[in-house]
Amino acid sequence: MKQRGVTLWFTGLSGAGKTTISQAVAEALRSQDYNIEILDGDIVRQNLTKGLGFSKADRDENIRRIGFVSHLLTRNGVIVLVSAISPYREIREEVRQRIGDFVEIYVNAPLEICEGRDVKGLYKRARSGEIKGFTGIDDPYEPPLNPEIECRTDQEELSESVAKVFQKLEELGYLTNKLAMQEV
Ligand code: ADP
Repeated sequence: MKQRGVTLWFTGLSGAGKTTISQAVAEALRSQDYNIEILDGDIVRQNLTKGLGFSKADRDENIRRIGFVSHLLTRNGVIVLVSAISPYREIREEVRQRIGDFVEIYVNAPLEICEGRDVKGLYKRARSGEIKGFTGIDDPYEPPLNPEIECRTDQEELSESVAKVFQKLEELGYLTNKLAMQEV
């Protein structure tokens, strides 16, 4: 059975847990022999979208380019894991429409929790005014209205978040390798 491609789109505030969950999901998929690719916001901004800033126009362009690559991969049967803050609802919807096989995962933790974690020290720099236009501080974040999955990382363990993603993929029929294995 041929693997079905799908884009798993992790959106949420900085420090909410997008990278952590997507890496754990990626590892689990890889161990089951799925073809996957990871497009992580921080890494993408160092190459594919290098030079773009954090205005709304540049953020939208960043997401549009990530969406373009995701689409190419997805239609060739790859499971693509995108983790990007992607704060604007409209561009996320645009990408969803274009890709079709698209699962939105809202990685949600309250700002205070994300700020308390301050994984990369960015909130501190945003609060001091060193960084301007930081999502959640002085730039908007528009939460998904109808995500396929919501992971409340302040209330659930990483393993629960990962399990939720697998459950939904199974439900939507994307875990063909597993089904194929069961059939043997
Ligand atoms: P993002 O990619 O959204 O900026 P990161 O994954 O880099 O966020 O950081 C999230 C931080 O939150 C990590 O230090 C991670 O260990 C921690 N964390 C605590 N609980 C969870 C959870 N349930 N799921 C994911 N991350 C969690």
